[in-house]
Amino acid sequence: MQITAHFDSGNIEVHDSSNAQHPLLKMRKDLNSHHFQWFHFKAEGLTPGQRYDFSIINAGESAYHWAWSGYHAVASYDQKTWFRVPSTFTNGTLSFGLDVAQEQIWFAYFEPYSRERHDWLIDQALFKADAELFACGKSIEGRDIQLLRISRTPNAQRKVWIIAQQHPGEHMAEWFMEGLIERLKLRDDAEINALLSKADLYLVPNMNPDGAYRGHLRTNAAGKDLNRAWQSANEAETPEVFFVQQQMRKVGVDLFLDIHGDEEIPHVFTAACEGNPGYTQRIADLEQRFRQRLVANGAEFQTQFGYPRSAPGKANMTLACNAVGEEFDCLSFTIEMPFKDHHDTPNPVTGWDGKRSKQLAKEVLRVTASMVDELR
Ligand code: ZN
Repeated sequence: MQITAHFDSGNIEVHDSSNAQHPLLKMRKDLNSHHFQWFHFKAEGLTPGQRYDFSIINAGESAYHWAWSGYHAVASYDQKTWFRVPSTFTNGTLSFGLDVAQEQIWFAYFEPYSRERHDWLIDQALFKADAELFACGKSIEGRDIQLLRISRTPNAQRKVWIIAQQHPGEHMAEWFMEGLIERLKLRDDAEINALLSKADLYLVPNMNPDGAYRGHLRTNAAGKDLNRAWQSANEAETPEVFFVQQQMRKVGVDLFLDIHGDEEIPHVFTAACEGNPGYTQRIADLEQRFRQRLVANGAEFQTQFGYPRSAPGKANMTLACNAVGEEFDCLSFTIEMPFKDHHDTPNPVTGWDGKRSKQLAKEVLRVTASMVDELR
């Protein structure tokens, strides 16, 4: 058996391959950082019908090591259809295995969203969804950070911003963006047309292309966590955030959504601005309506489980959601999707996946359309 991870978003090292049916593996740390939790590798030279097991022996040292319980790895024979493989976490080791059906198989922490697919998605937005490339930033390693604008009504009053994958291992975030753009391609979508008659959309499908390409969990190529950089963004270490902040200050923001994945909690949920110094009843009401409408529309979403609420005035202002909400006095959410599953509507075959991330995005657009008149 050969194991390789020298490709887009690949991450694994072979620690011990002496047992050809059960190699011991390790995840690599993010460059210039102590974080790691993302893995993605290919095993080839397999004998169909034979069982193989894989153990990642440093899982217990990873950034969210307590989150492996109840987690199941994803696998694919063709990099298109991904399925969950029963996994266990014991004594600091994550193990999974199966009777393989083909000579090669890929494993990952979550269904990967490739840079190649990202390039296709940008083309889809530009040529099928009337998007324009409003501006383009550069990552530390020179990768493009496209800021797309969808503007179908001159002088539309509202500016809706949606950014994704600040945390590069959270590939569900760009699947979400694909769902958004898929819906924006439709011509006879009354809700979208109503939204775009009053609002321009500003979309950043991938905030952290270096980290994603390198197979990072958490940081950019300088080892910086972008979602802790919104009070200190600079061109040297966090150009990705610096670029988007500059553009926001040119344009304004009336609604901000920052799309993420959560390692631990098996639910879709939001985090909001209740701890901001400038938090008001107006924002609280908007948050509540947005959440209630997502539930009422039947989206895979809930309001019971999530992060502990911040105490008044105690928000971490380095987070995008809080920083943007405070600066622009606007409705602002972090949307979190699970690495595991949404336990309100579990799917043991796929767990949470790209398809469900895309569908959630379409429901979020519906709710956004319903609230466009209420944002100011
Ligand atoms: Zn995140």
